[in-house]
Amino acid sequence: MPDKYIIFSGRPNAGKSTTIRALTGVKVPVGKKPGTTTKLNKYQIATGLYLVDMPGYGRKIGAGKNWEDTTKNKILDFIQEEADNIVAAIHVFNINTFIEVEQRLAKKGFISVDVEMIQYIAENLGEYPFIAANKIDKGKEQDVLRNVGAFLESLTDGDPDAAVDYLYAISAKNKIGTGAMKNKLVQRLIKKGFTNPFERVNR
Ligand code: GDP
Repeated sequence: MPDKYIIFSGRPNAGKSTTIRALTGVKVPVGKKPGTTTKLNKYQIATGLYLVDMPGYGRKIGAGKNWEDTTKNKILDFIQEEADNIVAAIHVFNINTFIEVEQRLAKKGFISVDVEMIQYIAENLGEYPFIAANKIDKGKEQDVLRNVGAFLESLTDGDPDAAVDYLYAISAKNKIGTGAMKNKLVQRLIKKGFTNPFERVNR
């Protein structure tokens, strides 16, 4: 049997490492200088099952377009080549700045990097990844809801119901909403034949 993967993606500083710790107990380093990792870091969590911590990708201050492209290509290639072996995918992003960033990008004719990555994962896996709309502790509830609404509209091209079940509004840092998300992830892994996958992970 080929190795199976749980992949985590997200832009630098989205809170991906904190989310990995909250959901799986795997002690990936937190608070790294954004953009310092370019490797896909793999952590074995059971026989034949690996957690893949994708490097943060997207704009990095002081780095050329080359760096950006190489890192992004590594991620895109992995997802495409291993699509059949990816048993769960989780994309983490900062929900608070979605509308602001999207509007800024739209003026230049770009779409959100998060929307782009989530759509790419969905195209390759045939299903949306679990989506962690992170850092809800940093925004007022009404602003978080506005951002979630705009994000779902943008992701689904105006059919938010298609993705709403995949979205979890969380604070990885304060462990708000992470319990429900973890349950869903564990359920998925059990369905794929891995029993209590995170039990043996050191806490
Ligand atoms: P990564 O670069 O995406 O792996 O992000 P990290 O997990 O290292 O987090 C980047 C920074 O955001 C750190 O200072 C974290 O403490 C902080 N952070 C992560 N999650 C949250 C959250 O839910 N709320 C707040 N306020 N800060 C967070």
